[in-house]
Amino acid sequence: MALFMMAKQLPKSNDNPLWMRLDSDFSNPNIKARFSLKSFPINLDNSRMIFARKLGFNHQKLIIPIQTHSINVTFCNKPGLKQKCDGVFTSNAQNVCSIQVADCMPVFFAHYKENVFGLLHVGWRGLVNGILQKSEKVLNRNKYDLSDFEVIIGPSIQKCCFEIKDDIIEKFHSKFILHKIKLGKDFVDLQNYALNNLVELGMSKVNIKTSKECTFCNTEKYHSYRRDGENAGRMFGMIGIEEPNSKSRKKIFNP
Ligand SMILES: [Zn+2]
Repeated sequence: MALFMMAKQLPKSNDNPLWMRLDSDFSNPNIKARFSLKSFPINLDNSRMIFARKLGFNHQKLIIPIQTHSINVTFCNKPGLKQKCDGVFTSNAQNVCSIQVADCMPVFFAHYKENVFGLLHVGWRGLVNGILQKSEKVLNRNKYDLSDFEVIIGPSIQKCCFEIKDDIIEKFHSKFILHKIKLGKDFVDLQNYALNNLVELGMSKVNIKTSKECTFCNTEKYHSYRRDGENAGRMFGMIGIEEPNSKSRKKIFNP
């Protein structure tokens, strides 16, 4: 029992109190994926840049989508703001893809050997409208194959808390819906929906990892839009290649 508990706690040794690393399973060791926690202060206008710098990324190379729950995904090698956009990929190793979320899924993509990576903001709308299918098309147009990527679905609202009402229930296949008889309520498993989409698109299940942490349940650790409403904070997701001379390199690898 004691051994089991120790083993279960081991991955947490990689975590910083302000963010978590999500790239332990990536085959490409250059690609770093990080996710900020509620403890990371975000009340400053430039908090996304501060987060990038703390991670050892070049904040001037941030790709920042202006998210609208769309299925617009761009493959771009120029940093800066991307209007009406919910997903970004790049093959420029200097760039850093970023998003912000509070319940929606941050979906990180890392090519298994090349320095190509991407990040999506996926809520239920993006998912049912086909943001994952769109991502595959965008990758194909740029001569990349989705099956050469590894995916991490980060902390997000899970089936324990993502209740849906009659108005949108028909948008989901029944296999992703959990009906809780006692409560008389329906819940959707968005992570499983995303996993199914990715497998249908040709990815191998072993290359997709999903965080089981629910942003709604974990009140101390994560912001949640559904829980906290309009004034909810946000978590940042970032993926990129760390700058070679970054001072924070040591801190990140030996927290
Ligand atoms: Zn929950």
